[in-house]
Amino acid sequence: MHGRRGLLIAAINGKAEGDRCLTCDVVCEVCTEVCPNRANVAITAGGFADPRQIVHLDGLCNECGNCGTFCPHAGRPYKDKITVFWSRADFDGSANTGFLPLAGGAYLTRMPDGSVREHRRDQEDLPAGMSQVLAALEKDYSFMLVAPLGAQL
Ligand code: SF4
Ligand code: SF4
Repeated sequence: MHGRRGLLIAAINGKAEGDRCLTCDVVCEVCTEVCPNRANVAITAGGFADPRQIVHLDGLCNECGNCGTFCPHAGRPYKDKITVFWSRADFDGSANTGFLPLAGGAYLTRMPDGSVREHRRDQEDLPAGMSQVLAALEKDYSFMLVAPLGAQL
């Protein structure tokens, strides 16, 4: 599923300049590369037209805005992307849609409409996109759901 993102095509006297574009509409993930703190991570999640989805890790972000500056679209990934929180203080200090893992496999969730509620694994009460991202995190990226050792919360 991964392919070459950029093809270095020689200039042909001003012809075919469009073909020399890096086709960032095919695979972007620029926000994962420009973040100095690795706070944006590309994961593979089922159920999306594009299986590569960006997850934001709030605990690593200092809101420098770099990813928003470099996003080729109008996105502000550090504000727009589904976010994993590692502390209640960080959750309360953000307006991002996302999850704060709680004890016993539950999550405090902020929905796209801003409402906050608790979600348990056996509940099917999340919007499809959130549910698919959370399923992928639990299955393949569970390390992202806990604060790394030494993190200051
Ligand atoms: S705003 Fe946050 S996620 Fe974006 S580049 Fe800065 S530290 Fe990284
Ligand atoms: S949020 Fe912007 S920079 Fe990140 S993958 Fe999407 S288009 Fe690219």
